[in-house]
Amino acid sequence: MKLINLQGVTKRYQSGEVSVTALKSVDVEIDTRSFVTFIGPSGSGKSTLLNLIGCLDKPSQGKVFINNVDVGLFNRTEAAAFRGKTIGFVFQNFNLIPVLTVYENVEYPLLMLDRLPPKERRDRILQLLEKVGMTDQKDKYPNQISGGQKQRVAVARALVTNPQIVLADEPTANLDHATAFKVINIMHEMKNAFGTTFIFSTHDPKIVGEAEILYTLEDGMITHREIKNKQ
Ligand code: ADP
Ligand code: MG
Repeated sequence: MKLINLQGVTKRYQSGEVSVTALKSVDVEIDTRSFVTFIGPSGSGKSTLLNLIGCLDKPSQGKVFINNVDVGLFNRTEAAAFRGKTIGFVFQNFNLIPVLTVYENVEYPLLMLDRLPPKERRDRILQLLEKVGMTDQKDKYPNQISGGQKQRVAVARALVTNPQIVLADEPTANLDHATAFKVINIMHEMKNAFGTTFIFSTHDPKIVGEAEILYTLEDGMITHREIKNKQ
């Protein structure tokens, strides 16, 4: 069974008279415990694709299956519940909460889920902060740490609920190349440590070196699929 299966997915956006077809009959299969990169220029449909996998939007045509469940059939409440337990998100702009410390930012999704006793919650947060190398910074606020450090915190936050899938939409777009590589390496380490499937998008051909499975998107279509160094 595939973890994620997109079958003939088309997504059209309608704004007034104008219709934009952001994805054109896209087929994608993603195995569990994989690290998948989508590369394509701005406007090629990367965010649209990740939003569909993340149950933030629905296809106009075609189907998105996750664990054999047709997620396009979810209503809003079902989609939110599914996201909460299955998917972690990492964003381009880090999206940390400025009034919370590093520790509290990582804790936040766990409080939303409210399913862990306090001791286990604390252990889990500290374990993740350790794994992303942010233990020393745990009491700092987001404006006191660098962009690369913010993204490490965001990776820890995405993983804290132990999701099967982490979606990272251009997580390196606001980082210099050296820092971007460090963040990608951390995502690889997390994939290996926790067996989480990472789906990562970028417009920057320079930072796909570590990709295991690389899809190229152009104008809403997948034009190339390459299996590189699958681990
Ligand atoms: P990428 O993430 O690769 O830059 P997007 O998925 O954001 O690409 O966008 C793909 C296409 O869909 C673009 O032409 C974009 O302008 C359009 N688009 C994206 N989101 C919307 C929206 N909410 N409404 C209208 N058009 C949209
Ligand atoms: Mg985008």
